Amino acid sequence: MKTVDIVVPCYNEEAVLQIFVETTDSYINKISGYKFRYILVDDGSRDKTFSVMRSLAKEHSNVKYISFARNFGKEAAMYAGLKNSSGDYVIVMDADLQHPPAMIADMIKGIEEGYDCCAARRTSRKGESKIRSFFSRNFYKFSNKITDVKMPYGAVDFRIMSRQMVDAVLSLSEVQRFSKGIFSWVGFETKWLPYENVERTIGTTKWSFWGLFKYAIDGITAFSVAPLRFISLLGLIISGLAFIYALIVLFQTLIFGIDVPGYATTLIITLFLGGIIEFSVGILGEYIGRIYMETKKRPIYLTKSTNINDESDFGDIDYSDFNEDL
Ligand code: UDP
Ligand code: MG
Repeated sequence: MKTVDIVVPCYNEEAVLQIFVETTDSYINKISGYKFRYILVDDGSRDKTFSVMRSLAKEHSNVKYISFARNFGKEAAMYAGLKNSSGDYVIVMDADLQHPPAMIADMIKGIEEGYDCCAARRTSRKGESKIRSFFSRNFYKFSNKITDVKMPYGAVDFRIMSRQMVDAVLSLSEVQRFSKGIFSWVGFETKWLPYENVERTIGTTKWSFWGLFKYAIDGITAFSVAPLRFISLLGLIISGLAFIYALIVLFQTLIFGIDVPGYATTLIITLFLGGIIEFSVGILGEYIGRIYMETKKRPIYLTKSTNINDESDFGDIDYSDFNEDL
């Protein structure tokens, strides 16, 4: 019998977690031939998420939890779940039921067709603010143009992966993780399943506009050095223009003699160049900051409490051997 781990990052999801497990159970219990196990990752929640997890684990032998020492972010939570997984397949999904558990059956069917990954793609964004959709759409367009990784528009973090793909994802050891890019970077064949956006009915989104903006910058810098190339090009173009202007001034002086206007021109050019230099230093800084954080080699997450190594994973199969490195 094949085993499937369901990794669920949770941050302040006390209101929905119980319903999430019950709803998902009602779908996975209908799928025969597979054993499912939940790996719930409490990403330093400030509410009662962790106690809900513990009581779920008491009720269901296939509920495992990992609780972080503080909030490390969804990326870290997904990584922790994947790292602690041992199933033949691993599903990653959100706790808020925006990722329809009804799709799990189709995802398993997809991966059994021979794909290494079967992932969900939103075809609509109903219920989402217009501004967010606008920026999101343009981010995908822009980042697909300048980075090596191609992320289909509407791709979400709801997917099933084969063991081989999970191991590949884990082999990328960067601390600042951008999973959407990593999933695409590792390659393997992905089958996309379209679905209609589901609005969050319980709890609230954990994203702010500023958070999403930073996420977009992370995505671009993690997979592309195009901005660096862009500032080199900008420098080259400005130097070229300056050279042409120098020639013009030279001939003007030779023909008309020395003239001393140009206060405004000098000021404008100085400010303009100052702006461009600051902008370029800023871009350099984005990369240097990331190099700095990466060289510290800090752990991606810190565990406060877990039951992942306890007995009775996947019902009756003992997987403790698989987790000996933990
Ligand atoms: N999440 C997390 N850590 C965070 C923020 C979010 O683990 O710091 C989880 C959250 O509990 C949820 C998933 O990531 O299961 C997606 O978050 P959310 O629904 O807020 O994002 P959205 O669906 O609006 O993109
Ligand atoms: Mg959500």
